Amino acid sequence: MRLIYITTVAFISTLLISCGGKNEQITTGDASTNSEQQTYTDADLDRDSHTLSNYREVKVEHSHLNLEVDFDEEKLKGSVVHSIQNMSGVKEVVFDTKNLEIKNVMVDGAKASYRMGSADELLGVPLIVEIQPESKSVEIEYETTEGAEALDWVSPELTAGKGHPYLFTQGQSIFTRTWIPIMDTPGLRITYSADIKVPSHLLAVMSADNPTERNELGEYHFEMTQPVPCYLMALAVGNLEFRAIDSRTGVYSEPEMIDDCAYEFADMGKMVTQAEELYGAYQWGRYDIIVLPPSFPFGGMENPKLTFATPTIIAGDRSLVALVAHELAHSWSGNLVTNSTWNDFWLNEGFTVYFERRIMEGIYGKDYADMLAILGYQDLRRSLDELPSDEQRLKLALKRRHPDVGMTDIAYEKGCFFLKMLEEAVGRAKFDTFLNQYFEEHKFETITTEQFVDYLNDHLLDSAEKKINVAEWIYEPGIPANCPVVVSANFNNVEEQLNAFYAQNDVNSVIPDQWSTHEWLHFLRNLRENTTPEQLELIDSRFNLTETGNSEIACCWFEKSIYTGYMNGIDNKLEEFLVTVGRRKFLTPLYRALKATGRSDRALEIYGKARSNYHHVSRHTIDELLDYSES
Ligand SMILES: [Zn+2]
Repeated sequence: MRLIYITTVAFISTLLISCGGKNEQITTGDASTNSEQQTYTDADLDRDSHTLSNYREVKVEHSHLNLEVDFDEEKLKGSVVHSIQNMSGVKEVVFDTKNLEIKNVMVDGAKASYRMGSADELLGVPLIVEIQPESKSVEIEYETTEGAEALDWVSPELTAGKGHPYLFTQGQSIFTRTWIPIMDTPGLRITYSADIKVPSHLLAVMSADNPTERNELGEYHFEMTQPVPCYLMALAVGNLEFRAIDSRTGVYSEPEMIDDCAYEFADMGKMVTQAEELYGAYQWGRYDIIVLPPSFPFGGMENPKLTFATPTIIAGDRSLVALVAHELAHSWSGNLVTNSTWNDFWLNEGFTVYFERRIMEGIYGKDYADMLAILGYQDLRRSLDELPSDEQRLKLALKRRHPDVGMTDIAYEKGCFFLKMLEEAVGRAKFDTFLNQYFEEHKFETITTEQFVDYLNDHLLDSAEKKINVAEWIYEPGIPANCPVVVSANFNNVEEQLNAFYAQNDVNSVIPDQWSTHEWLHFLRNLRENTTPEQLELIDSRFNLTETGNSEIACCWFEKSIYTGYMNGIDNKLEEFLVTVGRRKFLTPLYRALKATGRSDRALEIYGKARSNYHHVSRHTIDELLDYSES
């Protein structure tokens, strides 16, 4: 995933990401309950503390959804049937629920005795159902409510076509329980199937085998025959069209965007082939991507077979497709081999960032991948400046805190640099062989950090290499001294141009016409604090950055302009950007810059126009940032 949520106001957010920050990351600290430092004991290491279910005693093997999507009431209505195996012969099975309305429960087709347990503000309400040792199925009839944090009901005016409503889900980390009563833990893998009924003019797609055309009844059947953790169960419904890229990749979007999407993602097939050459066969059949409405508050989500993505990566020049490589890489790290608990989240994301950059290197060359790595390292440094030391460890201890606290550059970038360090220590060939074997031997399994370290010691590091400071990387804060240093000739050149720009106060002779998105980002991120509005105006008059259609450059440019005081030049476009785009990674630094430079009134004026266009996740963040209240 490239994202993060803040879902309750109980979390204090420390907003980190500045311009160009690539992850949707915001750290959160629990305001009320975290007075004592959380630590983990041996017993906690692989037991997921973010589920109330008894998934160790009763195993769910398959879940079947039977749901109607009601856009008028903005509810999902129907049932889920869990096929269970009562491994320990316990008398009750416990499922996670949060803000669901449970209507009825049947066990093996007969009315069952059940009750709701005591509510937990963080984890929800356990649904406790009486079962027998030989019980085989539990059917739960239910409806979602307004409090379903996983669901985004998008009104027609916020879609590209403006004519039809749209729905999409987001399960990671612990939101699946808000649309399905389920054992909501990454520590359990299930297969699933679904019968979904939608209005007949809309198409439904899931993280499963998908239709490519509407049918007259609006009834769709889905199968996911490979076991997945339930945070990867996903549904999107809208006025969708499908366009094939090649025989096994393609894109879904609203018809208004399908040409642009197909152009942007032309290299998807190449990416799958490149990924397979690195780490073995793609295991999921098709790889498709769905481009969601602009209110999607995140970058992307690696739902298997069907990545969910923000439209802000449609730059028109294919310059932001590293996000596709990232979500694709999750088809191995995360989806095939899954973190056992959210404390082990770096196993999903660190591997994925490493893998993403290897895919990009394979297709676009080492110079390109090095630029991505340096931008990532800049993000990591910035995060380290902000994060408390207990959140700077790869292995986290998040009991009684929301898993999203751990979705920071530590998991993504420190995790990646740890693997890069291992690669440099043993050599690329040996490391690639190891990773191939790791994915093959652990496919369709879950893994803890400790199991990974054991595997590392058994299969990669020889006795001399065991002296590598693996424990320091995983259990200590900060960046160890043996962190690889990435050098980019392209970026060195950008820095020379930057110095020349300040020395000569001239753009025409110092900045070339053909910079990549990444070179521009490096240039803008490294503008000096004492840059004047006149200097930005010089750059703008030559390169027209205020008008750029590239969302990453636009965000970074607007942020620098606000801090520099070049407001006159950008003000209209800034408002247009903030009203149109709902991706929180872009919203946060821009509103924060307005506030920090004494422009809170202007920030609130724009926010007043934009707020109804944002996902509730973005609203939570910006409400808090601007001390906004609706009254
Ligand atoms: Zn990811």
